[in-house]
Amino acid sequence: MSEQTPTVTMEKIVSLSRRRGFVFPSSEIYGGLSGCWDYGPLGIELKRNVKQAWWSAMVQERDDMVGIETSILMHPKVWMASGHFKSFTDPLVECKSCHQRFRADHLAENKCPACGGELTAERQFNLMFKTFIGPVEDGSNTIYLRPETAQGMFVNFDNVLQTTRRKLPFGIAQQGKSFRNEITTGNFIFRSREFEQMEMEYFVKPGTDEKWFEYWLNERINWYVKHGIKRDHLSVLEHEKAKLAHYAKRVCDITFLYPMGWEEIEGLASRTDFDLKQHAAASGKVLDYYDEVTKEHYVPYVIEPAVGVDRSLLAFMCDAYTEEPDKEETRIVMRFHPSLAPVKVAILPLSKKENLSNFARDIYKSLRTTLTTQYDDTQSIGRRYRRQDEIGTPYCVTVDFQSLEDNRVTVRERDLMQQIRIPIAELKKTIEAKMAGEDFLKLPAGGEVVQTKTKEG
Ligand code: ATP
Repeated sequence: MSEQTPTVTMEKIVSLSRRRGFVFPSSEIYGGLSGCWDYGPLGIELKRNVKQAWWSAMVQERDDMVGIETSILMHPKVWMASGHFKSFTDPLVECKSCHQRFRADHLAENKCPACGGELTAERQFNLMFKTFIGPVEDGSNTIYLRPETAQGMFVNFDNVLQTTRRKLPFGIAQQGKSFRNEITTGNFIFRSREFEQMEMEYFVKPGTDEKWFEYWLNERINWYVKHGIKRDHLSVLEHEKAKLAHYAKRVCDITFLYPMGWEEIEGLASRTDFDLKQHAAASGKVLDYYDEVTKEHYVPYVIEPAVGVDRSLLAFMCDAYTEEPDKEETRIVMRFHPSLAPVKVAILPLSKKENLSNFARDIYKSLRTTLTTQYDDTQSIGRRYRRQDEIGTPYCVTVDFQSLEDNRVTVRERDLMQQIRIPIAELKKTIEAKMAGEDFLKLPAGGEVVQTKTKEG
């Protein structure tokens, strides 16, 4: 793993998230709830875009994948069979003086990091949240909030196979909430107790699993890079064979250079036939695959890429964050990939006069059906540009009195602050083309370049 210094501090990300409405502490007016977060107006747009980018790459653009959505509450026998009931634990220690609790494998020394006190011996703490199903609160009605989405795919393996008539290899993908009663939370949304996952189980013929593991490792790294993560901020950490989880043949973490250092963003596991065999044995149902080519029945092996939405969103924010000098001030720019940017276009009329407002609002309405668009007519144009830069809006459209005459508007891009003036009739098509990667200075008919790579005055 390369030694590097993080490019942004967590304080800057937290402060921007707070200031601009990306993420707030949960139940903040009551002092917050530890390990829980709320997404604000921009945060939810960013989160939906991250999920959509994953769904496009993993499901929509592939022939060998289907999606599902399974319930958070599952039969308790699921967690018995999967091994979570017994083994989904972290080692817990408690300080004998201040009684704070810590995850033993996260401590550098065998003493309390808060007060230096002596620690108890380790005990295994199960991370699953318990609740009751139905109106009677007794032990026989105890159920668990799922700690991962993966089991929803395994218990539906046969349903999907029967209804979609898939041939190996194929995958089942799901996005949804998971819950873990983490011993300690922290580093903002990196480790929380309620979070969202995007997981995929890829079912393959035994013997081809190693090849598919390599394939998915590559695919997943490429997905991050394609969406704005710097390649040298990603690394792969191979788990030692001796320390692998009960179900795994091989595990790699894809790690990212977060502000607090290199940490897991995504886990890739070769789960063999463990889960399907466990569920087949516990439920008495046949969970295998009939191979029409070799005329054999067998239980497929599974490769699983599992990523946290919140953790990847945090990584996208960290790598998007840049500061550059801007006269006496600093220009903060979130250089989000256009597909992830929470707002794609801002419509900025140069005056609040009614005729211009009406004209600008019509443009706004014509764009917002397909592109998330903001309308802003407050303060100077310079301030409005800076506000959009700080939330990562790739394109600002200024509407001036000349626009009323020539039916053209000025489009300004975020990164180099270049400007082109183009016919309104070409606006939507042009912005969509730029978002898809077209050179910004390539003009539609009737367009002209107004400003290239100069600082704004
Ligand atoms: P860690 O070692 O950090 O506790 P893990 O190895 O238990 O994580 P997995 O079970 O592999 O995590 O979960 C898959 C992905 O789900 C992780 O890579 C991470 O992105 C996300 N994830 C897991 N736990 C949390 C959490 N408490 N908060 C936010 N995201 C999480």
